[in-house]
Amino acid sequence: MTGRSALATVATFDTIAEAAVVQALIEGEGIPVHASNSGLVGLDWSFSQAVGGIRLMVPGEHADAASALVAAYRDGALTTTDADASPAETGACPNCGSTRTEAATPPGEKGLLVLMTVLFNAMFPTSNRHRRCRDCGVVAAVQQV
Ligand SMILES: [Zn+2]
Repeated sequence: MTGRSALATVATFDTIAEAAVVQALIEGEGIPVHASNSGLVGLDWSFSQAVGGIRLMVPGEHADAASALVAAYRDGALTTTDADASPAETGACPNCGSTRTEAATPPGEKGLLVLMTVLFNAMFPTSNRHRRCRDCGVVAAVQQV
């Protein structure tokens, strides 16, 4: 042994997008990962088949851990769930985290809001709204989804 471990291929992908997701997943565990051929495939999709896809390679001592991450990804075990959504997406209170919130209109904005809703709702479907927390009373703007 020279002290420098050989790279082990832990996964092969046809698309850069999928390779990038898994690469980030492995890097997120603190494992250095190298994506082979990604430059070539990025230039032309046809290269993907020609060069055997994009190979993700990690140092040999991390091969088992990285392979487990790849297996988990392919099993869908790491798919993002609603529980991971940010408060703005769930309507949860940004102050206390309670999900017992209700639509609210800040004082003084009601007339304007009605006008805005009538005139612009179709044009700005993601405009800011407010929600009031039933636990702590905080009224906060949320991005409607
Ligand atoms: Zn709250």
